[in-house]
Amino acid sequence: MSLNGKVAVVTGGSRGIGRAICIRLAAMGARVYINYVSRSEAAEETQAIIRRNGGNAEIIGFDVADGDAVQGAVKKIIGENGSIDILVNNAGITRDGLMARMKESDWDAVLDTNLKGAFLCAKAVSREMMKKKWGRIVNISSVSGFAGNPGQVNYSAAKAGLTGLTKAMAREYASRNITVNGIAPGYIETEMTEQLSAEVREQIRKEIPLAVFGRVEDVAGAVAYLVSEDGQYITGQTLHVNGGMYM
Ligand code: NAP
Repeated sequence: MSLNGKVAVVTGGSRGIGRAICIRLAAMGARVYINYVSRSEAAEETQAIIRRNGGNAEIIGFDVADGDAVQGAVKKIIGENGSIDILVNNAGITRDGLMARMKESDWDAVLDTNLKGAFLCAKAVSREMMKKKWGRIVNISSVSGFAGNPGQVNYSAAKAGLTGLTKAMAREYASRNITVNGIAPGYIETEMTEQLSAEVREQIRKEIPLAVFGRVEDVAGAVAYLVSEDGQYITGQTLHVNGGMYM
């Protein structure tokens, strides 16, 4: 499954799931742009890992929720490479809390990054993909967007919104040979899930038929499949990578 000659952008590619996706796509031969918003050192670490393995990686910092910044970054990457072939909308944040106490700013921040950010990035890259008549867009959603999760009305709504974005985009862009799919991870070992107490982790683990949290590589493998030749006839779908916790 070669991605030689392809240019990929992974939002939030600096750490966690995004880092594993960058490493995997680079290992398949893609030139990968690692995006971050505030922690440049994490992006540098990801780049160093990829380069040590003989891969091709660049760093591009921008806020996915800032339309002008997204436009500027996409222009720069296209200027350097002529195209962007693969976009993985992975950047995401949580601002958890029960709805009764959730601040409007917590709602806005999560919707802006997790949903509007994906729209802005997908819109910005799709022009060149249409011209080239080839493109792969993968939106990283969540089990919370399908099952709902108490304490996460903002996050669940944003992730459910991504499913609608994925399906509508898939229909709009299919005639240009651009596929748009989602991946809905369950609980994956990252900084996001490290914040959970041991008690909550154990409670969650009991709800997972495979009885373990997933690895970042499990999600990266699903992305690799969807953007490779093996996945070329799949569009508008969401792949659930969750150990069976939501079926
Ligand atoms: P993470 O470890 O917290 O990393 C988040 C990444 O997103 C970082 O690279 C961060 O950059 C970047 N980011 C945050 N806000 C951004 C913005 N406005 N613009 C650009 N980049 C931004 O998260 P993760 O656990 O790997 O999760 C990755 C994705 O998978 C998210 O969409 C998340 O919702 C989803 N997901 C995760 C799990 C899980 O169990 N971990 C489960 C289901 C779904 P900085 O370092 O610069 O802040």
